[in-house]
Amino acid sequence: MNKVSIISTDDYIPHLLDSAVESHFQLLGLDSFLRPGLRVTLKPNLLMKRTPEEATTTHPEVVAAVVRALKKRGVTDITLADSPGGLYTVGALSGIYKTCGMTDMAQREEIQLNLDTGWREITTQTHRVTSFNIINPVAQADLMINICKLKTHCMTGLSGAVKNLFGCVPGLQKPEFHYRFKDGAEFSDMLIDLCETVKPAITFVDAVVSMEGDGPSGGTPIHTGLTLCAANPYSLDVVLCRLIHMPNEQAYTVKASFERGLASAYEAIELVGDTQKIDSIQSFRLPATKPVDFNTRLPKWIQGAVNAVTDRWLVPKPVIHLKQCIGCGKCAESCPAKTIAITDGKAYIDYGNCIKCYCCHEMCPVKAIHVKRSRLFRS
Ligand code: SF4
Ligand code: SF4
Repeated sequence: MNKVSIISTDDYIPHLLDSAVESHFQLLGLDSFLRPGLRVTLKPNLLMKRTPEEATTTHPEVVAAVVRALKKRGVTDITLADSPGGLYTVGALSGIYKTCGMTDMAQREEIQLNLDTGWREITTQTHRVTSFNIINPVAQADLMINICKLKTHCMTGLSGAVKNLFGCVPGLQKPEFHYRFKDGAEFSDMLIDLCETVKPAITFVDAVVSMEGDGPSGGTPIHTGLTLCAANPYSLDVVLCRLIHMPNEQAYTVKASFERGLASAYEAIELVGDTQKIDSIQSFRLPATKPVDFNTRLPKWIQGAVNAVTDRWLVPKPVIHLKQCIGCGKCAESCPAKTIAITDGKAYIDYGNCIKCYCCHEMCPVKAIHVKRSRLFRS
């Protein structure tokens, strides 16, 4: 099925969301995925402790509407699970569920919030990775439903259907992948392996309020008034790129899915629902990391040499604003290169070892880390 549905969804009001989710089900024939007795895991984006209004995490009312649609179809064994950035412990999960509004939602809708911090190794026949450790509720589910948030992403360009699945990898094993696949393109290719391994059956996108600018956590909320859905996560990400005017080659997961022959051109995807809304977003600020990404247009033989220069001088770097820093250590905890030290209650980066993955920027709870372009590229 190569269809993507797009529905105008102006607000997080339950009856509007119920109507939107029902439309997605009907337009895509999603009932065929479901049967009573199925064990379903919902995978929202719960990156960090942020309130729903901050647009960093999937809004709980979107999840609630999906739950109601499932229950209406006789599916009652429903667990919500994610491995956010940072530690994967019961304490960390409980705090994030509460702040993100998932605790209240789960009580009201009578679903389980995952507190099992175990994982299972799944071997794969994929491209770069031979096995992944996958959190138990995803590894054990009959069916996984991905519920992502439309956001920009400083490293991969887009945080959509494919990128959201990185939360299937437990806790601090995620920075290990950043260290192993330092380059954004390689890292995104690994994410395609992950997507092929966990295989979400359906993906919903919360694009009622999205995040533009330096996402996935340092950007700005923007009202986009939409929900989207598809069975094919690669097609869905192609549509998201079209929606926010991001060239496919700047969204590394989309680029990798084309290179692997998994994605279709936008013109080959059947868009259904409120199709005119594909042109409804006039402008959407892309991350500061993106405008200098010109190297992929050069001939392959010269890219290595240019990389050596651009890595040193032109690739945007994370800069800590010491006045804002509260010394919490979240950046150091998530830094795959272990190149951040906390001294006298402030964080300092040793740039000699920095691999420019922006995990620190992503995990800073007070937005004290900014992504700064080289002076040559600042407007
Ligand atoms: S300092 Fe930040 S950008 Fe550099 S390696 Fe560490 S987490 Fe990545
Ligand atoms: S830069 Fe941010 S994450 Fe790092 S110690 Fe300071 S406040 Fe915490």
